[in-house]
Amino acid sequence: MEFSHKIIDIAKKAETELAKAFADIDDVAYKNTARVLDSFRKHRISEAMLYGSTGYGYGDSGRDALDAVYADVFGAEAAFVRHNIINGTQAIAIGLYGLLRPGDVMLSVTGRPYDTLSDVIGDKTGNGDGSLYDFGVIYDETELKDGEPDYERIAEKIAEHSNKLKVVYIQRSKGYQTRPTFSSEKIGQIIKFVKARTNAYVVVDNCYGEFCDTEEPTAYGADLIIGSLIKNPGGGLAESGGYIAGTQRAVELASYRLTTVGIGLEAGATVGQLRNMFKGFFFAPHVVAQALKTAVFAAYVYKSLGFEVFPEWYEKRHDIVQTVQCGSPEKLVAFCRGIQAASPIDSFAAPEPWAMPGYEDEVVMAAGAFTQGSSIELSADGPMRAPYTAYFQGGLTYESGKYAVMMSAEEMLKA
Ligand SMILES: *Cc1c(COP(=O)(O)O)cnc(C)c1O
Repeated sequence: MEFSHKIIDIAKKAETELAKAFADIDDVAYKNTARVLDSFRKHRISEAMLYGSTGYGYGDSGRDALDAVYADVFGAEAAFVRHNIINGTQAIAIGLYGLLRPGDVMLSVTGRPYDTLSDVIGDKTGNGDGSLYDFGVIYDETELKDGEPDYERIAEKIAEHSNKLKVVYIQRSKGYQTRPTFSSEKIGQIIKFVKARTNAYVVVDNCYGEFCDTEEPTAYGADLIIGSLIKNPGGGLAESGGYIAGTQRAVELASYRLTTVGIGLEAGATVGQLRNMFKGFFFAPHVVAQALKTAVFAAYVYKSLGFEVFPEWYEKRHDIVQTVQCGSPEKLVAFCRGIQAASPIDSFAAPEPWAMPGYEDEVVMAAGAFTQGSSIELSADGPMRAPYTAYFQGGLTYESGKYAVMMSAEEMLKA
């Protein structure tokens, strides 16, 4: 790896100025590691629990113990974690189909949900595809107002939908938007406001948020939080999977969509996946800290080079996502190519924009990961639409993340 003097100088300056920010990130990792270890100790996780089961998977004590550990650490009554949930989108769909019935209303109070959920929510163009719309679920939303929940509108909508309202939906991370990510505490305020007005379940898309704060939204009363194991809680070791955590009843209803009514969480073989899921959860607080440091470093470097970044390096973070406004299609592609070139796997590939299933615009992605598409590993992606914003996240180690940021900066300068 060779870098220009300009980039080397910025990197040096960055690390001097970021010392305090890095120490704060470490502090969160220490606290979260203590919670994970306490839970492993409480549930007496043993070597025998790491092997898993086959067939029906009855009596899989490791599976049940991992569910209990997730529930504990996330401050929830119950949880399930499964390697065969294919991604965050499916996990969220399991939660929504579990809770919603024909005629019910789902109200998103943080604007339009993440792109891949549009087909799950559906609309009249779906033609009997089995979307929530197709099952007679009514979707409604309130826009954010200056990056904040619009409490006045939310109160109006809750009153309007009255007892038809079954799910109030919150997305923690910005996703492909430019707005602040909400802290667990902030989500707690939204939950308090909502729960004072309705008995509806509160469901939180928690993707990218896990272990960035010292509490998850479940500790603040969310009925369900949902996420992907190839993001934060898998710690870079889980090879596939998703989780749902929350209140007893909401998790039970979701479990009937995971498997089927009458079975719920009583069965489901773990076929050799438990060890990495346990190990990944053990690593997750540390790995999330590595990703956060990489993001802070990127914010500093790109800001120094004159690009708009969000959040700024000195802002408090509640997810691992860093955006860099690249300004042109060429620069966005160059950014992704730089990240790709510094990756351990597929470093020789040159990312091209393509029409990914579930996304509205073409997307360009850099992903040189041990686990396909894993975005706790260093990855960058961006929809090919103005202002050509790169969404950048992950980094299993800060050292490798730092080099990739420097490499992408070199590519951007050339473009
Ligand atoms: C990643 C993500 C999802 C789910 O995406 P998958 O690729 O299906 O895991 C949903 N919401 C947000 C905010 C996300 O970041």
